[in-house]
Amino acid sequence: MTFKSERTRVKRIPDRGHYDKDTIYPIIDEALICHVGIVHENNPVVIPTIHARDGDTLYIHGSAASRMLKTIPGQQNICITITLMDGIVLARSAFHHSMNYRSVVIFGPGKIVDDPEEKWNALKVVSDHLIPGRWEDARQPTQKEMDATTVIAIPLNEASAKLRKGPPGDDDEDYALPIWAGVLPLSLEKGELIPDPVLPDSIPIPDYLK
Ligand SMILES: Cc1cc2nc3c(=O)[nH]c(=O)nc-3n(C[C@H](O)[C@H](O)[C@H](O)COP(=O)(O)OP(=O)(O)OC[C@H]3O[C@@H](n4cnc5c(N)ncnc54)[C@H](O)[C@@H]3O)c2cc1C
Repeated sequence: MTFKSERTRVKRIPDRGHYDKDTIYPIIDEALICHVGIVHENNPVVIPTIHARDGDTLYIHGSAASRMLKTIPGQQNICITITLMDGIVLARSAFHHSMNYRSVVIFGPGKIVDDPEEKWNALKVVSDHLIPGRWEDARQPTQKEMDATTVIAIPLNEASAKLRKGPPGDDDEDYALPIWAGVLPLSLEKGELIPDPVLPDSIPIPDYLK
């Protein structure tokens, strides 16, 4: 199965393009946020938000009052971008500086999830994506809270990944320059937990956060 189409075909440095689930899904799953591109009243707008994948479906959610979520169902297509930054690539020349990254671009229609079971599951999937175990521990949503929440499903069948890794690629004559070159790796790390100031001391840290 390939997610390749004319509009997902990577034209700029095509060697970096990938169109298979084995490359695309781990990037979607590792990223904590995505950026959703829509056209609202003839203006393009790109909004960051949380996402999660369940099988071949990507879910996003939010307030039923969200412009983004209200606009999506009326669009033939939206574009979702997911980016993981792996490093800053320092070349000898200013021109060849770059980034090491893994990114995904997804095209597709977004549909509101009306089925209560799918909606509930999608919200659990989104929660599990961020903190596995939290959904079961948290107070479950009321009907009023469910009604105040919109969930959008985007089928995953048209997407591309683009990957850059490795050292800088300088022009041959620049390798002799006495300028440091290489990669500054970047990664997202979990910090120390900060308890809510009003949290009673008697409540222990759950295992899934340790
Ligand atoms: C963290 C990061 C930093 C970057 N910095 C720069 C920069 O400073 N300058 C710059 O020119 N480019 C940068 N890029 C690369 C950039 O994302 C584009 O790939 C590049 O600019 C070519 O754009 P284009 O529209 O000409 O691509 P085209 O190759 O014409 O795009 C055609 C199709 O290829 C796919 N595609 C293109 N780019 C990506 C991508 N990154 N991930 C997944 N699919 C993709 C999409 O489906 C797109 O519709 C960066 C990428 C990342 C992830």
